[in-house]
Amino acid sequence: MWNGIIAKYKDFFDIKDEEKIITLNEGNTPLIPAKNIGEMLGGINLYLKYEGLNTTGSFKDRGMTMAVTKAVQEGSRAIICASTGNTSASAAAYAAKAGLKCYVLIPNNKIALGKLAQAILYGAEVIPVEGNFDDALRIVREIAAEGKVTLVNSINPYRLLGQRSGAYEVCDQLEGKIDYLSIPVGNAGNISAYWAGFKDYHKAGKLEKLPVMLGFQAEGAAPIVEDRIFEEPETVATAIRIGNPASWDKAVAARDESKGLIQKVTDIEILEAQKLLASREGIFVEPASAASIAGVMKLSKEGYLQKGKNIVAVLTGNGLKDPSVVSPEKHIKTYGVKTEEIKTLIYRSLGSDQND
Ligand SMILES: *Cc1c(COP(=O)(O)O)cnc(C)c1O
Repeated sequence: MWNGIIAKYKDFFDIKDEEKIITLNEGNTPLIPAKNIGEMLGGINLYLKYEGLNTTGSFKDRGMTMAVTKAVQEGSRAIICASTGNTSASAAAYAAKAGLKCYVLIPNNKIALGKLAQAILYGAEVIPVEGNFDDALRIVREIAAEGKVTLVNSINPYRLLGQRSGAYEVCDQLEGKIDYLSIPVGNAGNISAYWAGFKDYHKAGKLEKLPVMLGFQAEGAAPIVEDRIFEEPETVATAIRIGNPASWDKAVAARDESKGLIQKVTDIEILEAQKLLASREGIFVEPASAASIAGVMKLSKEGYLQKGKNIVAVLTGNGLKDPSVVSPEKHIKTYGVKTEEIKTLIYRSLGSDQND
């Protein structure tokens, strides 16, 4: 039985009391070959690490199991975070499991409804703030510094440790044959964690060649790409709507040490990639996750990615969390209970004339 990432990769984690691990059996997510898109892009071997199948629907669970396990073992009674949505959903769930109080500060009106519903139902105290993510993060850092509540944003070092398990898994799944790793970049913790994870495996002799790291920010929230803070970040990809990433330096180091890139993609490219993933591969991700595919498509068109290379794209979150990208009115017209009428519609669509 799979018992979560701490049990699986305990050689890499310093967890003493195995009785007191707080887990929701996160991790072990599938690596799905994207044959259709790979062919479309000239024959690259594209693999999708579908992190939307973690227990709360995003990769944040990998870090949260570590952060909350450590918080409990250190005697903490409450956790706090700022969140664009998925961190709050994950923190709230692990707090529920552990019996801790959980406080989440969210940027007002800027978080997807599915994520908000999760945090509320898991029983967190949700505190909307009239400001953006960076403002909310500043406040929770100040409060956590007083020592009464444990901060579980990715500046908590245990978060990034746990998130390294994503890299361990893709190495195990591909037997180390990874040329490129493509990943969305928001607060820049995940790209840093993957790079650290690959280096761990390399050092342990489980990975021969380190992959090249490819990070993608949204055009309206691209501080690392443009090397400046974005005071008012804006993008449909709310999970990466961050203007001053906490792990900025680590992400730049991952990029440079791996001889990789961090580039930007537009909201239109992100939404097109999201649609393509759903309609060609059967995988529904949230907009931020699609940035990794938008980036692969862009680099492929520029001739950067060659045929036969193994590329892993991390699909960070489940599309069901944020269905607002689809307007039902545009897609749903109700028909009468009339077989003939519906048959005509379907056969016309099939390009057939069997309906006469
Ligand atoms: C948190 C998150 C990101 C960004 O990850 P960082 O570690 O902040 O760079 C991307 N996509 C989704 C779905 C997320 O929840």
